[in-house]
Amino acid sequence: MNASRLDDFLALSRANPHSLAPFSETLPDGGQIQVWDTGVVCIEPTAPANKDLVLSCGIHGNETAPIELCARLLGDIVSGRLVCRQRLLLIFGHPAAMNLGVREVEENLNRLFSGAHAKGEPQTMERQRAARLEQYVTRFFQGRDGTERLHYDLHTAIRPSEYEQFAIYPFTHGAPYHKGQLAFLCDSGVDTILLAHGPTTTFSYFSAHGFGAHAFTVELGKVHAFGENDASRVAKLEHNLARLLQAPDWQPPPLDPARIRVFKVCQEIIKQSEGFCFHFSDAVANFTEFSPGALLAEDGDQQWTVGDKPEAVIFPNPGVAPQQRAALMVVTAELSADMLC
Ligand code: ZN
Repeated sequence: MNASRLDDFLALSRANPHSLAPFSETLPDGGQIQVWDTGVVCIEPTAPANKDLVLSCGIHGNETAPIELCARLLGDIVSGRLVCRQRLLLIFGHPAAMNLGVREVEENLNRLFSGAHAKGEPQTMERQRAARLEQYVTRFFQGRDGTERLHYDLHTAIRPSEYEQFAIYPFTHGAPYHKGQLAFLCDSGVDTILLAHGPTTTFSYFSAHGFGAHAFTVELGKVHAFGENDASRVAKLEHNLARLLQAPDWQPPPLDPARIRVFKVCQEIIKQSEGFCFHFSDAVANFTEFSPGALLAEDGDQQWTVGDKPEAVIFPNPGVAPQQRAALMVVTAELSADMLC
């Protein structure tokens, strides 16, 4: 086969970080690979199976392990080593931030979905990108009806975590949690699940709420620079994603509830002013637990304390702007049979 412009789509996207004119090529197995924009590529198999999968990474530009994972999967599809039998929309979220080695250029892209990009000024680079990514996901899911829709939005965290790999299950508005998806995540090494407590403006909630997709924000460990990730740490997920794409009949082993750890949000700590401070170290790992009654944070007259059950902290960040979330507090939760489907 001739050299393809898609041999290194990530490099092509990073060389054209703001936009890339659409083009398409034929895959070795006869399927179509369509470039829709920088970082956005759609694979249309000749006879697609029953799932439509959005796989996104690099929504935060410096979260390189998932970017490298997706680049390997795409490389295998382009070369023909992996025959993709499901429709796939693969997204490298923020090439401009990748080039600068930063999480974001002007603001957090993963707070701008479900229309949040259109509210308020200024029109930042991330707002323009969120609007376009919404259009692409809409176009992809609307391309077909009656299929199982999936979206895994892959991230890594700023800080270490007591549980290295965890997924955030977007708010379901009361709908039950999907056993097959929890089984897939657990079998992929993502054995800690955080149940969100309300609507958000994240990419995964956009696909879940807008398109009925089984969608998750998946955290795969700690941030490292390009080339410094240990691929073996994400090998289980990578292997299962490849199976999902090439073997339509494959299913993970059934969910064993004893193998997953489930948390739910019990309080949000919202920074009120520049006087805000935590009463624990900045270096604390995600899911670090605090005892009932412990003082967590203070801001002027306001104090946040642990309730009557132990609480663990996630995503603490005292540097956010006032009125933004400085941390989430979570408690362990049970998934009873009536909460699952
Ligand atoms: Zn992230």
